[in-house]
Amino acid sequence: MGVLDGWRYCPRCGSPLVHDHGRVECGACGFVHYANSAPTASAFVLDDGGHVLLARRAYEPDAGLWDVPGGFLEEGEDPLEGLRRELLEETGLTIEPGKFVGAFTDTYGDGPRATAVLNLVWEASIVAGEPAPADDVSQLRWFPQSALPSDEELAFRWLAPSLRAWALATRKAPKGR
Ligand SMILES: [Zn+2]
Repeated sequence: MGVLDGWRYCPRCGSPLVHDHGRVECGACGFVHYANSAPTASAFVLDDGGHVLLARRAYEPDAGLWDVPGGFLEEGEDPLEGLRRELLEETGLTIEPGKFVGAFTDTYGDGPRATAVLNLVWEASIVAGEPAPADDVSQLRWFPQSALPSDEELAFRWLAPSLRAWALATRKAPKGR
């Protein structure tokens, strides 16, 4: 199920659309749209003791589960600017991005309303502020990397394996890195 599957008429002029491999085109006005994953920017925020900051989701999808702070990039937005913006909105923290952790595909929501997403993840440290939940976050908590929430308590599909693999690699890394 792709985002363009139900698209039949041009949103600009109402003429029928032509579908071609993840792309639609309107022969009347020239409108073209490609199906892409929606990019997000998120952070594994670390404190001096190596704890990671997780955010409990206030709203669906996956309300009540632990997520990493972050969110969808705006159109044309620089990813690191979007990361800083989302962290400030959700946690009140001014952060400094560190090492790039990776890019992880997933879906946001389930069923016909599911959106394909591409999660871009950086390590980050706090420059200013105290963590205070806001926006679509109901609670913030520091977790030791050796005592992360269970898979069932973590939001989405990409997060649990990615967070555990990262924690394992980070804990094995030499101190003072
Ligand atoms: Zn058109």
